[in-house]
Amino acid sequence: MLTNDELAKWDRENFMHPSTHLAQFARGEAPQRIVTGGEGCHITDRDGNRLLDGFAGLYCVNVGYGRKQIADAIAKQAHELAYYHAYAGHGSEASITLAKMVMDRAPAGMARVYFGLGGSDANETNVKLVWYYNNILNRPQKKKIISRWRGYHGSGLVTGSLTGLELFHKKFDLPLAQVIHTEAPYYFRRPDAAMSEADFTAHCVERLEALIEAEGADTIAAFIGEPILGTGGIVPPPAGYWEAIQKVLARHDILLIADEVVTGFGRLGTMFGSDHYGMKPDLITCAKGLTSAYAPLSATIVGERMWTVLEQGTDENGVLGHGWTYSAHPIGAAAGIANLELIDELGLVGNAGRVGAYLNRRMAEAVGAHAHVGEVRGEGMLCAVELVADREARRFFDASEGKGAKVVAAMLKRGVIARAMPQGDILGFAPPLCLTEAEADRIVAVTAEALAEVLG
Ligand code: PLP
Repeated sequence: MLTNDELAKWDRENFMHPSTHLAQFARGEAPQRIVTGGEGCHITDRDGNRLLDGFAGLYCVNVGYGRKQIADAIAKQAHELAYYHAYAGHGSEASITLAKMVMDRAPAGMARVYFGLGGSDANETNVKLVWYYNNILNRPQKKKIISRWRGYHGSGLVTGSLTGLELFHKKFDLPLAQVIHTEAPYYFRRPDAAMSEADFTAHCVERLEALIEAEGADTIAAFIGEPILGTGGIVPPPAGYWEAIQKVLARHDILLIADEVVTGFGRLGTMFGSDHYGMKPDLITCAKGLTSAYAPLSATIVGERMWTVLEQGTDENGVLGHGWTYSAHPIGAAAGIANLELIDELGLVGNAGRVGAYLNRRMAEAVGAHAHVGEVRGEGMLCAVELVADREARRFFDASEGKGAKVVAAMLKRGVIARAMPQGDILGFAPPLCLTEAEADRIVAVTAEALAEVLG
């Protein structure tokens, strides 16, 4: 697996990689891959491998690799105007055009879009806007944010707190006190096997009501959730979940933040996951699919009821003290425009729905009956295979056995990238939205072979 050339050595000696076992990597015991190129749904590396990327990078290269149209737009922007800031009413043609394109595609009831750089900073912006909003409304105590266990919302201080995965809290002194967590909408891991989906939705609602009651509704500002749990295991919500949750939020005057970093711009076969599940958010977080990761850019889309109060706030207090040097960066914006145009031109939202459904169906047919597959689930161009030690008892493998990671490694040997999701033995698939049926077939075949190799 390891190469001993100079670049690999420099890598181990100088580069602190994100989400990596630092000590193993430094000792040369961890996998190391130097990626050199990409075309469509495939990447190539320095060892000469050509790999089918079943996770689109980190579910972000939605239009696929090697799109000249986006590269050209970035180059043109860099030649014309690589940078100017967006503070105090400044902008570029690219950032203004992209704002219009995002708002044209946004769900009903949204008023403005703010641009940052990545999903974590967009959620940081969201929390600040929520706090500002309640201060302007003279409710300084209404500040806590409810997130779900297994939600993923970033890895900063507030956003790492919002994230409901142990790995992102442990030894970091997180979560911060303003963030509290409620039940994950994870039907397969329901507390009682006899529960129907409707029972489980009612259970999630009860848990939320109990938390609000215990904390006091006047202390809770917002609820954040991904339309479908992503990094927490790729888990679609149980039937009726969002409708029921939104009723509770409305009753207690709690804002809804839809974190659409994964689902925004087509991944579920609809432009936004909010449309898909009938969510009516006050804030929408976008990143990944906004530029298909050709350049870093995120978006916070602000709903009308918040926008009115934000305007009132600046009338009362002056300039909104929030912004980054690179907010609405022209190169990111140029990438975003070309990306959204390409999504339309190639009909990728429709393709995500069609080929995604095909991938999910074929995966269920191929491995759904395997003795160690507990569930095959997904929505749009998202699919997960959850491994179990015992199907009937829904008993999981001991985490130390690393079964999911072993299956993913066996797939890699066969030229297909899947992701071992960080909590549980779950194989995750989130290919580019341009995946073909033939490529879906290959992902499924390799998954079946790898499962047979590792688990019999
Ligand atoms: N929100 C969701 C739903 C995500 O999946 C991610 C990243 O995977 C983030 C936020 C954080 O985005 P970033 O890694 O760009 O900071």
